[in-house]
Amino acid sequence: DNEIKKIKAEYVRSFLFENKLMPSTWIVIRIDGCHFHRFSEVHEFEKPNDRQALNLMNSCAVAVLEEFKDIVFSYGVSDEYSFVLSKDSKCYQRQASQIVSVIVSFFSSAYVMKWKDFFPFKELKYPPSFDGRAVCYPSTEILQDYLAWRQVDCHINNQYNTCFWMLVKSGKSKSEAQSYLKGTQTREKNELLIRQFNIDYNTLPIMFLRGSSVFRIKGEDSVMPEDGTFEEVKQEIILSHSNIIEDSFWKEHPSILC
Ligand code: ATP
Ligand code: ATP
Ligand code: MG
Ligand code: MG
Ligand code: MG
Repeated sequence: DNEIKKIKAEYVRSFLFENKLMPSTWIVIRIDGCHFHRFSEVHEFEKPNDRQALNLMNSCAVAVLEEFKDIVFSYGVSDEYSFVLSKDSKCYQRQASQIVSVIVSFFSSAYVMKWKDFFPFKELKYPPSFDGRAVCYPSTEILQDYLAWRQVDCHINNQYNTCFWMLVKSGKSKSEAQSYLKGTQTREKNELLIRQFNIDYNTLPIMFLRGSSVFRIKGEDSVMPEDGTFEEVKQEIILSHSNIIEDSFWKEHPSILC
């Protein structure tokens, strides 16, 4: 009787599949808001960049780093965030589905809990959700290329969106603005902004241009607070808007990916 139960349990368990991420590789969990095109409209985000919405995303990322000590670096833009777990992380025995689900659900509930801190006069109309995926990067160089790719993407999208919304705000319809920008190069977009709107693209807020990085400072490059209070200890988690495409960032912070 007990034997039968045991056999049945084993049989049911045999359908479980392993989804362990390769050992000794950087794990990146990228989360992305589901249908945030709509979410940002319903909640009347400022276009193209709602500063408070970005601050809320960054605050959730800080909370994620406080909760999951194996995360060494993260980079966010728009409705997405990439979290990097250290190469030798043993988090959930490196099971992809568990790591992804726990980070994505923690981030989503932090987003809801913190909403009123960033939008005190805006009601949250429905529960936002995020999707998540895990990818392994076998070398530090490839990981840095991944992060650079996200920041390049931030730049390309931001430049397009800045032009698009300036055209729309100046009276063009969305489809007119779209066809107006079709096929234009970076230089042409910068010229358009200067010529028509007197905007020097490079003087836009640095958070819009570069996105946000949240990371831990450990070892030599950490600054110990004099009075060592609890609040100050938390400040080992840093928010910055650095250029992470250039090598110099990684040279200045050698302890992040060591
Ligand atoms: P999917 O579910 O496939 O991710 P999506 O609608 O979320 O669809 P994304 O490609 O992820 O599409 O783009 C996110 C969209 O959310 C942007 O295009 C933008 O319209 C909006 N958005 C996100 N963050 C902000 C912000 N801080 N300010 C203004 N708009 C934002
Ligand atoms: P893990 O993170 O590994 O899942 P856990 O603490 O969530 O750890 P579970 O095996 O999932 O452990 O068990 C959930 C526990 O949550 C139960 O042991 C019980 O103590 C508590 N719990 C969950 N739902 C209820 C409930 N409705 N009433 C009282 N206790 C509950
Ligand atoms: Mg998506
Ligand atoms: Mg999205
Ligand atoms: Mg997105």
